[in-house]
Amino acid sequence: MGLVETFRGPVDSLLLGPTLIHEHIFVRSPELEVNFPDSEWDRSVAVESAVAGLTDLHDQGIRTVVDVTVPGLGRDVQLVKEVAERVPVNLVAATGWYTSNVLPPYFQVHGPGRIIDRPDPLIDLFVGDIHHGIAGGPVRAGILKVMTDVDGITPDVARVMNAAAIAHEETGVTITTHSHPASRNGREQQAYLKERGVAPERIIIGHSGDSEDLDYLCQLMDNGSTIGMDRFGMEHVLSDERRVRTLTSLLDRGYVGQMVLSHDAAFYSHVTPPSWRASSAPRWRMDTLSRSVIPKLRAAGVSSEDITRMMTENPRRLLETAK
Ligand SMILES: [Zn+2]
Repeated sequence: MGLVETFRGPVDSLLLGPTLIHEHIFVRSPELEVNFPDSEWDRSVAVESAVAGLTDLHDQGIRTVVDVTVPGLGRDVQLVKEVAERVPVNLVAATGWYTSNVLPPYFQVHGPGRIIDRPDPLIDLFVGDIHHGIAGGPVRAGILKVMTDVDGITPDVARVMNAAAIAHEETGVTITTHSHPASRNGREQQAYLKERGVAPERIIIGHSGDSEDLDYLCQLMDNGSTIGMDRFGMEHVLSDERRVRTLTSLLDRGYVGQMVLSHDAAFYSHVTPPSWRASSAPRWRMDTLSRSVIPKLRAAGVSSEDITRMMTENPRRLLETAK
């Protein structure tokens, strides 16, 4: 048992309930908004859409949503806090940096051995977000997020991962990843973080559900990590029918304790705006598990106990801090 930081302050982990562990409230591009605005971005429309969507999720039985939007994806906790204050579900904030290759110029100049020689500001950022609150508070981050994609662990991505490993050691907060399952790079993430002292049990290899390679997925779990079957509804990558087939195969093999379910959806994303989502990815929404996938799992014979483990108990274990 322990306390988990949310947008409304610490919550007893036993009260987290069914949890969507990898979602985005808003994905934005602040610099583009200033210079090349998106006609689909309307602050109040976005807020109302998130409030309505999250209130509906509560009606569907969801009690906690983890917003893994970190800097690099337009994190704005003041905006999300406006939403959090109006919805019955808990929202959890994340820290980390989202880049698949390079960091912004600031980080090229500030850091050990750089022009402005000082300890890595990424470490201050991550630890500060978790211990003191994001941008001066009061919202504290409850999870660390790192990413590697097709470029693998570039020097700047390595810097983010090193800083996350140090912040994990100082805070005990779990590390979740964006992986690129097509190149099976969850293994590389796992090995890299483990070398830096992170127990594989405290790592979620995100987006693993994009893969249908059971040997790869079992290997990640046999090494101790939890895998994110976290893109239900993202049928432009892989159909839900195939995602469900992979999930039930892994349940048959006994991996219920090491899988978490989510959508990686958003109420607004500048990258894939609402109009595109409506026409090309209509099921990529945060209610797809509740309304469609979980009923299908039950019909396929998956027990309520197994669903509770994946939706409630596994997220709770991972969101509880290890110290
Ligand atoms: Zn994501």
